[in-house]
Amino acid sequence: MIIHSDWHIHSENSYDASNPIAAIGDQANAQGMRYFGITDHANYNDDKFRKNIEDSAKNVKQLQAKYPNMVLGVELTPIEKPCYDYICEHGTRDGYSPPAREDRHDFLLPYTKEELSALGMRLAITAVHWSLIGPNARGGSIEKCIESWHCQQMALACDERTTILGHPWYCGKALWYEDFSIIPRSMHLELGAALKENGKYIECNSHFFRTPKATEKFRHQYAEFLRELFEMGVPVTYGSDSHHSYEDLRPKVEEYLSAAGFVDGDFSELSEKDLW
Ligand SMILES: [Zn+2]
Ligand SMILES: [Zn+2]
Repeated sequence: MIIHSDWHIHSENSYDASNPIAAIGDQANAQGMRYFGITDHANYNDDKFRKNIEDSAKNVKQLQAKYPNMVLGVELTPIEKPCYDYICEHGTRDGYSPPAREDRHDFLLPYTKEELSALGMRLAITAVHWSLIGPNARGGSIEKCIESWHCQQMALACDERTTILGHPWYCGKALWYEDFSIIPRSMHLELGAALKENGKYIECNSHFFRTPKATEKFRHQYAEFLRELFEMGVPVTYGSDSHHSYEDLRPKVEEYLSAAGFVDGDFSELSEKDLW
């Protein structure tokens, strides 16, 4: 077994998930997880997401005595600054439309470390979910998308809120899930150097190994990418990123990790010094 802890799980307090926290706790312990993290989404600085993470914190605290190996965290995503500002002004995202221009615009994470710590959060998975460059914020050419992902991931690698860089190169539109070599290797090396320099972890997310959108070739390339960063000195953690049931996905994931050279002992646990 290579994976012993799961640092990225969504509970019913995420807008797109339905796992009750107690069910996750029972399953995680049945699977022998040493630690497991509840990391609900905090995508926007609006009331809806704020309430979700407040509820997540409250529910985790209520069950902490029963599951002492459960750690409260959060998942953050970069958003474009015009959107952040719009929400500050209007209190909602309703009516917002992304700027229609090709330039790169500023982006930020929607909560401060102080705000999250005040809720009892002890770690943040920070992860890119969409392209921020292009006439349509979620579209654009594949080259522009790659550029945007890289630019955002580099910023996250240097951000004080990042404990773990979540699902690197995740792409809902599966733009590079056929052949991962479309991403320039120089970007991987640059990202690895920044993560190492800043003491960040990189996540091995089960998504890449279970989504039907990915080819077998891609899955092996992706495991090799994680291995290369690991060999550069970047510690790796596992995240199931479960949303609707908490099943054990490790056998499937470990098949690819083993083929890339990972053995028991290579994956990291977060130590007290890593947690807030
Ligand atoms: Zn995510
Ligand atoms: Zn997630």
